[in-house]
Amino acid sequence: MTSYPDLRLYIGGAWRTTTDDLPVVNPATEEVIGRLPSAGPQDLDDALGAAEKGFAIWSRTAPRDRADVMMRAAAIMRDRQDEIAHSITLEHGKPYPQARLEVIRGAEFFEWDAGEAVRTYGRVIPSGPGVDYIVHHQPIGAVAAFSPWNFPMSQPARKIAGAIASGCSIILKAAEETPAGAMHIARAFHDAGLPAGVLNLVFGVPADISGYLIPHDSIRLIAFTGSTDVGRHLTTLASEHMTPVLMELGGHAPVIVCEDTDVQAAAISGAVRKMRNAGQVCTSPTRFFVHEQVFDEFLGHFTDRAAATVVGDGLEAGVEMGPLANDRRVGALAGFVDDARAKGADVTTGGSRLGTRGYFFEPTVLANVPDDARVMQEEPFGPLAIVNPVASLDEAIAQANSVPYGLAAYGFTNRSDYANRMVEGVDAGNLSINTLEASLPETPFGGVKSSGYGREGGTEGLHHYMVVKNVSHSYTIV
Ligand code: NAD
Repeated sequence: MTSYPDLRLYIGGAWRTTTDDLPVVNPATEEVIGRLPSAGPQDLDDALGAAEKGFAIWSRTAPRDRADVMMRAAAIMRDRQDEIAHSITLEHGKPYPQARLEVIRGAEFFEWDAGEAVRTYGRVIPSGPGVDYIVHHQPIGAVAAFSPWNFPMSQPARKIAGAIASGCSIILKAAEETPAGAMHIARAFHDAGLPAGVLNLVFGVPADISGYLIPHDSIRLIAFTGSTDVGRHLTTLASEHMTPVLMELGGHAPVIVCEDTDVQAAAISGAVRKMRNAGQVCTSPTRFFVHEQVFDEFLGHFTDRAAATVVGDGLEAGVEMGPLANDRRVGALAGFVDDARAKGADVTTGGSRLGTRGYFFEPTVLANVPDDARVMQEEPFGPLAIVNPVASLDEAIAQANSVPYGLAAYGFTNRSDYANRMVEGVDAGNLSINTLEASLPETPFGGVKSSGYGREGGTEGLHHYMVVKNVSHSYTIV
């Protein structure tokens, strides 16, 4: 098996180190596995200059040629999936098979957006004789993007794919905790022949980098995935420069379990999905509102399956859930459990840190959680589920909508009238019935309310990376 890669910045088509660096830690062992170069002002100036040059070339490259480079890069990522997945498990902790699936998902994002690149159609508006009105969709310019640590490969892939398919250049600041995923993407594009400056990768102190890049004139779009608080801060900063934003922020997904469903199947599916990526997913199913007729049965099956989750180092065979990404998350999870317990919630399994080495936390189920517990409003972003009884579908929908978030929501029912009431009534950018899959490359993904602004993926995915230009062309001067 390969070792963890040497980490570098990628600016203007070249790899570089810096004198300042940051440690990268394996969350399963707490060992330092790499040193990450930290970009200073000169590096960022160079990246800005490179992105301007990259945009000049790439925006005039035919969409078909852009798509070819993306497909070559995706094929390279597929070929290197074992190596990339190994890096991801080392830096993030997730089970190796899940890391491999993430690499494939990342490649699929590039493949989907490569297809979309050649379909950014404009339109001709009917006009009188001697004049044409033509709507063009043109790349917006250089993008400053910020990706988080929960999916080291597929999160950067979303942003890079959207920018490159649209003809933009991009400076990506990927997460300092999990830099190798993004570095492998840059390597694949380098090897696929992407012109210098189209993709630039930097790391460093997040606030310093966003504070430096966002005000710059050549940055025409800010794309961010992460917490709502940071998203709000970056949106405020961008608004001072009238720079548009694409914000994919927090979620606190409700799951409505109706009395007519297959209760055991829904409970097992819910518990398995909840613990995926140790619950560190913005679409993670978290607040289960279960009809009171089937509540006890659901809670029993759910608790049993959650408690049976195999937790360990993601490189060990059979492990279903790795550690949390960092020590901050362990403290946050313990705080949510203590608060809920003090307010009267039942802890039916888990609730504590696991072991003394690595950032492991027990799969945790809280039942009968009162509305004033912090976790009912704040996203736990960890392996913690809430299972509460409700008397009706109306009550479940009201509970689902009672948080500031509106990213993913789920329902289990066989009744089309129940499903339709959820479609009409639940505030969410993504609603899934009888499945806990929230998005695919070909479906648009994003939130409402405090979960953000804009969509990634689907045919909507390139909209934010492009501007509309209407051309009125008269054949004679009028
Ligand atoms: P955080 O709010 O400190 O950071 C979230 C992300 O934003 C990180 O990737 C971080 O590097 C980046 N960031 C922070 N300040 C920034 C700045 N000024 N400029 C640019 N980037 C900045 O939280 P955290 O402890 O790293 O993560 C926990 C919270 O983040 C969770 O509760 C969850 O809500 C959120 N989160 C969401 C997603 C998602 O997929 N939507 C992913 C990761 C984290």
